[in-house]
Amino acid sequence: MIRTYQHWINGREHGGTTGEPHTRHSPAHGEVLARFAAGTAADVDAAVTVARRVFEDASTWATLPGSRKAALLNAWAALIERDVTRLAEIEAEEVGKPIRYARGEIEWSVELLRYAASLAWQLEGRAMTQLGDDKLGLVTREPRGVVGIVVPWNYPMVTLFQKLPYALAAGCTVVIKPSELTSGTALEVTVLAKEAGIPDGVINVVTGLGETVGEALSTHPGVDMLSFTGSTRVGKRIARNAADSLKRVSLELGGKSANIVFADADIDSALDGALFGVVLNQGEECISPARLLVEKPIAETFVKQLVERARKVAVGMPLDEKSDVGAMIHEAHMERVLELIASGSKEGARLELGGSRVTTAGLDRGFFVPVTIFSGVDPAMRIFREEIFGPVLAVTTFETVEEAIQLANDTSYGLANGLWTKDVDKALKVSRRLRSGTVFVNTYFESAPQMPFGGYKESGLGRENGLEGLLEFTEVKSTLLKLGTRDAALPLATSVT
Ligand code: NAP
Ligand code: MG
Repeated sequence: MIRTYQHWINGREHGGTTGEPHTRHSPAHGEVLARFAAGTAADVDAAVTVARRVFEDASTWATLPGSRKAALLNAWAALIERDVTRLAEIEAEEVGKPIRYARGEIEWSVELLRYAASLAWQLEGRAMTQLGDDKLGLVTREPRGVVGIVVPWNYPMVTLFQKLPYALAAGCTVVIKPSELTSGTALEVTVLAKEAGIPDGVINVVTGLGETVGEALSTHPGVDMLSFTGSTRVGKRIARNAADSLKRVSLELGGKSANIVFADADIDSALDGALFGVVLNQGEECISPARLLVEKPIAETFVKQLVERARKVAVGMPLDEKSDVGAMIHEAHMERVLELIASGSKEGARLELGGSRVTTAGLDRGFFVPVTIFSGVDPAMRIFREEIFGPVLAVTTFETVEEAIQLANDTSYGLANGLWTKDVDKALKVSRRLRSGTVFVNTYFESAPQMPFGGYKESGLGRENGLEGLLEFTEVKSTLLKLGTRDAALPLATSVT
């Protein structure tokens, strides 16, 4: 069945101003999956107008007590959980990712939503009582206002739920633009938000292209903040657009993370971590540890064992429970991944595994790339420097702790890094020196909603999740109260009485 969607504005479907929809074909088998409305600047304007009105009419959402917001967000979480199977299938098919991971993604989004709901109770300020006995200072947090949310295709649900529930808990109203390739789940969960009782117009969705809908959101004067996840290239453009109206921006951008394996690591778990690092979401993963730095004495054996394990990874259809690696998002992206793989061989890296498109019967109509491992990678090579966003691992060796740190930091990105050692002292020392928003020690990808997430350097601005993730969506207000009338006269140069 082909799913057909409209925009979602003010709690109902909205046909939009153009008749021509975007058609999403499966990246795994080519059949039509869904049709989404192709939005325009006028549709964005309609949605922003509603979000603005609902925000200004503060009692609808902005000033609703935290306990009430939390109850509604929790009711919403229960409905998403109820529909996890259906939502996971949509996510798996549209992205091309294995169903097991799609299910995990929806479940994790529910966790984020429940955590953000708990924060709605806790949006607190400070009182200043040391300003003299005739003054009281209040520092309070207020919602930023109307938030534009633009998210990519690799984790349509998680990237949305690292923003949306926090914005709502803070009292903002939102207009969401999902990727035009994967808009299904954003639209489906917005309908569930209505079922949960979240008032109409608090959450609005306009689908369509980045260059029209995304561009209109990032330039609209009625949008107070733009929260973006996607490529560094588009993130910079959004920051430039936002400069004109001095919108707040928060940016979650690209990465080129490293996994550092020291010789004293638990080798078995390091092997699992290194492999899972490029398998998860077929490497279309902002924190994918696509650079593997291995201490020289163990490197040869480590790579040999890694290749052994990687041979067992199953490339397959998204809805197949046994698949580990699904399809690349679209043909042009697959071509780019293959071109970067070719550059690795051309620049002299040693291809240990994979390297070309999967063409086995059944998978030949999709955009499948197998796990690909290069050893002997030099830091000057493109496969060491550029974000590949595919299941491709570049292995380099190091001899000293200092060299490992230097190699890991030798990138314009700074989203995450991992390190593997049984020496806690070394782990903490190295972790402090790594220029990234997250460091994993003896694990990778594990997370908790309480822990902030975001990038150093060109990986972004601001933080998501945790208390920091909530505060991003607030403005700070200082209110100074003069107490009593005794010294009420203002110190003017000439008396005005
Ligand atoms: P992208 O091309 O930057 O697109 C991201 C979103 O921005 C899409 O919805 C896109 O619309 C939209 N967009 C494109 N041009 C725009 C413009 N001029 N103004 C406003 N919006 C615009 O990224 P992608 O290829 O979808 O996703 C992959 C990238 O996301 C990778 O670099 C990855 O590292 C990054 N990422 C980062 C994180 C993180 O948390 N740091 C998480 C996941 C992914 P379309 O629908 O037209 O494409
Ligand atoms: Mg794009």
